Amino acid sequence: MIKKTDFYIDGQWVAPAVENEFPVINPANEEVCATISLGGKADVDAAVKAARRAFESFVYSSKKDRLDLLHEILRVYLARSEDLTEVTTLEMGAPVDLSRDSQTTSGDWHIEGFIRVLEEFDFERPFRADAPNDRIIYEGVGVIGMITPWNWPMNQVALKVIPALAAGCSMILKPSELAPLSSVIWAEIMDEAGVPAGVFNMINGDGMGVGSALTAHPGVDAISFTGSTRAGIAISQSAAATLKPVHLELGGKSANIIFADADEKAVKRGVNHCFQNTGQSCNAPTRMLVERSIYDQSVEAAVKAANDYKVDDPAKPGKHMGPVVSQMQYDKIQTMIQAGIEDGARLVAGGLGRPEGFNHGYFVRPTVFADVTNEMRIAREEIFGPVLSIIPFDTEEEAVNIANDTEYGLSNYVQTADGARRNRLARQLRSGMVEMNGQSRANGMPFGGMKQSGNGREGGVWGLEDFLEVKAVSGWSNEDP
Ligand code: NAD
Repeated sequence: MIKKTDFYIDGQWVAPAVENEFPVINPANEEVCATISLGGKADVDAAVKAARRAFESFVYSSKKDRLDLLHEILRVYLARSEDLTEVTTLEMGAPVDLSRDSQTTSGDWHIEGFIRVLEEFDFERPFRADAPNDRIIYEGVGVIGMITPWNWPMNQVALKVIPALAAGCSMILKPSELAPLSSVIWAEIMDEAGVPAGVFNMINGDGMGVGSALTAHPGVDAISFTGSTRAGIAISQSAAATLKPVHLELGGKSANIIFADADEKAVKRGVNHCFQNTGQSCNAPTRMLVERSIYDQSVEAAVKAANDYKVDDPAKPGKHMGPVVSQMQYDKIQTMIQAGIEDGARLVAGGLGRPEGFNHGYFVRPTVFADVTNEMRIAREEIFGPVLSIIPFDTEEEAVNIANDTEYGLSNYVQTADGARRNRLARQLRSGMVEMNGQSRANGMPFGGMKQSGNGREGGVWGLEDFLEVKAVSGWSNEDP
């Protein structure tokens, strides 16, 4: 069994100030697979002290030095990929192929993306031709508190740590206590790659202990948070007392609008996307809006796609679906399936309980509801499991209204062969991202939401700018070499 009870502070693995061991549960068998520690205020104080001291010099490191560092991190990350794949499967239940091909690779994809952004970024820029002695200087915000969830562990950590390093910030990472093992390896990668002592620190802990100590700490300059809207509100309130900026990447309830002229794979693609990572993705298209003329056949296609899913042990290779992360998540999904039934939606695939053949592990049934209205709980609340709600519509205007009628605004999806309609909808949908006809975004495009899905944009130049202050300088000497 893995035992990783130390924290990474000031370039060293140190014992927690107060012993407080915590079991990590393997969601596939509900057994303890590792022991970590939950930190507290004293650990946060030590990490903040180290990060403050390290920031003083790291903020003035050259762009070349930071680029060299990111290249070295990428090299070590790639060398540790198989270790990351293994622990991600263990801690959050992603089937090993998904873990290797999506979870782990998201990390190196982001490191590569930020290397490109950093190469092209000018930290000092002339302002305007008629103001030759004005300069804009971008410089690191300071010490960043980073709080991440369990669903895409390395994706989330890379999206925060790498741009913060590129910006010249120092940081304290608190990964999810449910999936902390990948972040322990991440800290080993930072160490091996030669990140200067104190620039990157990692403390395990829960929201109440380490999370709130970070958000309230006067020595932390900004918070970057990914997780639930509930925690995002608590963090914003806690950070307000010290006026820290808070970057939030929160939940979603994305619509996938399928018009009658969509390509024949649109429904299947929508189901697969909704069920990817056992439905535990913030941008999952969980509300499938289908034009009435193709409604019945689309429901049938969705049922077939859901029933084709095999649920199995995540340690086995293959394209099956793994468990959800925890008992709490399992219970929440059951509650929401029950709510769908009680609200009168038509259950057409899956349903309550574990899939046949499973009597333990947090396995759930790939579930589809048809005849859902946008007022039902299953259409309004984030479920975070493989539960799809299908809603019929008659006109384009109605589809846009339903899609926008949500407190979330992370992503929306559109499936139609009509290019003019695609562009029209891209303008009208109130979400940080609009993905059409299954075409994924290029590296460097921003990820983030509107409304209660948050205020941050991760990835690309936007992800870097979140960690930069803008300094306006007048009287600049143009004789500076
Ligand atoms: P969560 O909010 O329960 O926990 C996320 C992190 O916040 C954990 O590290 C947790 O320990 C910490 N935390 C919880 N309460 C806190 C508090 N009061 N103060 C400080 N820290 C606190 O979320 P989760 O269950 O780990 O993750 C699932 C959620 O994350 C979903 O809502 C999902 O949509 C969201 N998510 C959003 C994005 C995005 O980019 N928009 C990406 C992935 C996940």
